[in-house]
Amino acid sequence: MSNRFIPLEPMQPRERIGVYVCHCGSNIAGTVDVAEVRDWAEKRLAHRGVVVARDYKFMCSSLGQELIAKDIKEQGLTRVVVAACSPHLHEQTFRKACQMAGLNPYLCELVSIREQVSWVHTDKHAATDKAKAILSGGVERVMRHTPLEPLHVPIHPATLVVGGGIAGIQAALEIADAGFPVYLVEREPSIGGHMAQFDKTFPTLDCAACILTPRMVSAGNHPNITLLTWSEVTRVDGYVGNFTVTIRKKARYVKEELCTGCGVCQEKCPKRVVDEQYEAGLGFRKACYIPFPQAVPKYPVIDTENCVFFAKGTCKACQKFCPTNAIDYDQKDEYLSVQVGNIILATGYDLFDARRVSQYGYGRLANVFTSLEFERLSNSAGPTNGNIVLRDGVTTPKTVGIIHCVGSRDRNFNNYCSAICCMQSLKFAHLVKERTGATVYNFYIDIRTTAKAYDEFYQRVLEEGTLFVRGKVAEVTDAARKPGEEGKIIIQVEDTLVGKQRRIPVDMVILANGLEPRRDAKEVAKIFGISCSADGWLIEKHPKLDPVATMTEGIYIAGCATGPKDIPSTVAQGAAAAASVLGRIQQGEIALEPVRASVLEERCSGCRICNNLCPFNAITFHEDRMVTSINAALCQGCGTCVAACPAGAITGTAFSNEQIIGQIEGLLMRNLETAPVGAGQA
Ligand SMILES: Cc1cc2nc3c(=O)[nH]c(=O)nc-3n(C[C@H](O)[C@H](O)[C@H](O)COP(=O)(O)OP(=O)(O)OC[C@H]3O[C@@H](n4cnc5c(N)ncnc54)[C@H](O)[C@@H]3O)c2cc1C
Repeated sequence: MSNRFIPLEPMQPRERIGVYVCHCGSNIAGTVDVAEVRDWAEKRLAHRGVVVARDYKFMCSSLGQELIAKDIKEQGLTRVVVAACSPHLHEQTFRKACQMAGLNPYLCELVSIREQVSWVHTDKHAATDKAKAILSGGVERVMRHTPLEPLHVPIHPATLVVGGGIAGIQAALEIADAGFPVYLVEREPSIGGHMAQFDKTFPTLDCAACILTPRMVSAGNHPNITLLTWSEVTRVDGYVGNFTVTIRKKARYVKEELCTGCGVCQEKCPKRVVDEQYEAGLGFRKACYIPFPQAVPKYPVIDTENCVFFAKGTCKACQKFCPTNAIDYDQKDEYLSVQVGNIILATGYDLFDARRVSQYGYGRLANVFTSLEFERLSNSAGPTNGNIVLRDGVTTPKTVGIIHCVGSRDRNFNNYCSAICCMQSLKFAHLVKERTGATVYNFYIDIRTTAKAYDEFYQRVLEEGTLFVRGKVAEVTDAARKPGEEGKIIIQVEDTLVGKQRRIPVDMVILANGLEPRRDAKEVAKIFGISCSADGWLIEKHPKLDPVATMTEGIYIAGCATGPKDIPSTVAQGAAAAASVLGRIQQGEIALEPVRASVLEERCSGCRICNNLCPFNAITFHEDRMVTSINAALCQGCGTCVAACPAGAITGTAFSNEQIIGQIEGLLMRNLETAPVGAGQA
């Protein structure tokens, strides 16, 4: 070792430390010489308190955990260091093993020699040295740990579900059916989400309304569900078990307690408006409108931007004809405050704006449609009663091209696969064939039909005679060059299976535009103290092992808010999030990790640098005392404020300066310099 560093004070070991090195099959042992690390720890770290070091194939297995427990009991261990995978994965496993053996679980330290060593190195010798350094850091750190106790907080039995698509409806019903109160907040005038716009759903082609409407009605009538539509959450205070949520209930200009949903106001309203929302721009609604016939709740809403009364002060037809005097032009937005223990975010997705791929002509060429437009066009309750026609409203197409992966799997837009577009395009191909008999081309990169009954549906569409061209479409134009192409849309594509360029004239093009995060996902994430991925989707705590939890305790996510998925997966996530919440509610209270930041008030200068940094809204500034304090239940122990505090007034439990500096010194292996001469030269 270099003598540039001031050696640590020789220290008489006060602790009895056990070191456990995991092979993780060949995940670690393939790159790190685990036996060497074990021997090294036993010999070279003995003077730091290591009394036993063992290696085992799978330390996380019950046999591996028993090894640790046995040593704690028989060898009187006072500290444990496990060198294995990321703490994210198995910290709790090893803490529990220690606790079962009577050792305070926070006296166990898990260091990662998999993610930080074996998975990122190939040189076995160097990787083994790095594993030793990381282990040495863990030993220095654990000897500075103090026993900790978790914080216990009560759980309020009510739950807030944000987003009334199928994910939110499912979650709300599961919780309400179990007997607990739910506030279901939806920003649109009705619940239902995207699914309410569809006619048939793949792969079974069952009618979306037939399966969705009963659930919407159940959610609307359920005695345990308070439905707040045309509403948005503006603020969340508090912490798991005890959130205070502020909800803005936008003025509908209709008194819900008087309205019977008869629809007379909508009928009498003289102002027709293009319906960009529900009809995807293909149909009309009134300025006073119920979004669709099966809407829940059935109350109308007045669109003030288009209402003649709000623009000119005249008309008032809705008020004149309302049989129950329910129209109230003076209604104001209301702000409600509700208490909940847990929150589920099910805010869904937006569609990729097809105009961004300008070479496909959407918005320029009349008969280029988006996926959602086609859903409305083919919907028997849609603007054409389900007749698949061109934009003139009468002509049935004879040839239709469906272009997959518009805005997805494209490094110019989104790298990810939107998961549902292949099946959606196959559904469209089937509907076009069935209803018009047209020739249908699917232009695809790869066909992805991996879920239950999906590939069978693909085979069915193939047998129906749909044509498939493998290749990314280069351009969609109206530049007819040959006889017979007049009035047609030309699809220019390289057919990669035959290796030649093709020009295919069609009457209609349907773009399978992908799914994107909600445009306001980042703002929503900020309100709830959670994060978004680089793509913008809400991030789950663990993509495999905890896909509906978030890093913020008490906040769950479900459905397409976390990424593209089909209805079955969305429903499964809604139910899973509800199950997690119910588990919490039934416990009555929750034990929170004691790893938290706290402020030493006498050192706080009131500079407020930390105030806006906390991603969990755990920091409050007290104007009266000019100091900052941290809500222990809200703090997630991320350490951002600790690092930012210029006065060193904030400390993190289990991450004190002493612990961190000790760990760094261990990593630098300065501790070896204080080893008694001849002590275990490896
Ligand atoms: C054209 C098309 C066709 C499809 N066809 C099928 C099919 O046949 N079969 C299939 O399995 N899947 C299909 N899908 C996928 C399906 O749409 C999704 O799986 C499903 O709708 C996801 O539901 P969700 O509740 O997660 O999201 P959404 O349906 O998007 O619902 C989210 C809800 O949250 C509300 N919301 C958003 N933000 C807020 C906020 N801040 N506050 C309050 N409320 C908010 C929204 O208004 C919306 O009501 C299709 C998708 C597309 C685009």
